[in-house]
Amino acid sequence: MKFEFATTRRIIFGEGTAATLPELARTFGTRPLVVVGISTERAASLISTLSADTFTVPGEPTVDLVREGARRVQSSGFDVIIAVGGGSVIDAGKAIASVATNGGEPLEFLETVGNSRPIEVPSLPFIAVPTTAGTGSEVTRNAVLGSTEHGVKASLRSPMMLPRVAVVDPELTYGLPPEITASTGLDALTQLIEPYVSERANPLVDAICVEGIRRVAGALRRAYHDGADREARCDMSLGSLFGGLALANAGLGVVHGFAAPLGGGWEAPHGALCAALLPHGMAANLAALRARAPRHPALERYATIARLLTGRNNASVEDGIDWVRALCVELRVPALRAWGIIETDFPSVVEKAARASSMQTNPLPLTREELLTVLAAAH
Ligand SMILES: [Zn+2]
Repeated sequence: MKFEFATTRRIIFGEGTAATLPELARTFGTRPLVVVGISTERAASLISTLSADTFTVPGEPTVDLVREGARRVQSSGFDVIIAVGGGSVIDAGKAIASVATNGGEPLEFLETVGNSRPIEVPSLPFIAVPTTAGTGSEVTRNAVLGSTEHGVKASLRSPMMLPRVAVVDPELTYGLPPEITASTGLDALTQLIEPYVSERANPLVDAICVEGIRRVAGALRRAYHDGADREARCDMSLGSLFGGLALANAGLGVVHGFAAPLGGGWEAPHGALCAALLPHGMAANLAALRARAPRHPALERYATIARLLTGRNNASVEDGIDWVRALCVELRVPALRAWGIIETDFPSVVEKAARASSMQTNPLPLTREELLTVLAAAH
């Protein structure tokens, strides 16, 4: 057995920890730039205590936005970047901190569609402060960027891009509306299930996934129905953090393989796409494993997932998938058609998904027909 595990050097977790941010920022530099989203209500007082210049990320980040941010950092001499927001804001900040020191054009570094030029220079000190519980981007080494030119999303990726500090304060998620709690929370669940059955799963990631799935299974419904449930919010923030640790060190699978081209081609939040696809991706993997690899260890892992989700020791693999399906109904997850995706788009989406980096760690390769079945079922 061989594996490697890398993550953010310092993770600060707990209610109220965001209050330490101004002091923390001063240990890295004197000219901070705060990267924020459009709606900053949940973090307004935090942002004002930092009394720093801000850079606004209006949606999911693009190559153009990162180029603009990196130029601003270079021309104004900012020496520490702090991202306060959801996954889009943290990914934007992470990419800006990296492109600002590496120089050049963001597209050159982009996987799949760019030149995959290696990122060789460490980023500017970067502090990630999530205000949602979903992406785990505060502990991952990649930033997902859209390229309007290519109609796809792809990653800048390097161990050099790991945030220097992650400050995960569940209090920042108390005001999240139910719809965002649902989509980001189901993204977190997907990011715990896919690494656990991944080709690159390893014992350290296994332990993280098992604990994360258990917490999210107990907390997501509660956080959705009662946003002020502190214990549920705390478990969801942990689940998100654990998902980030897991995906960064074991990869993902079919659901995220589809989320790349769908998120690049349509205006749909990443979490909503993953949520719509999750039960169907699990069902397709299960059927393929039973048909072609009946002794594959992922089958026993899906059984463990079912027990963790349902809390029942006699739960079957199907019970686990049914539990996810029922959760998606209860949390009102829209089907893919709600985002304007139509059946004639399926063949090109399947081709792009098959080449996506996440698909390469799916427990086994799925055929084009099997991939089409997943899309049709999620539609
Ligand atoms: Zn995700």
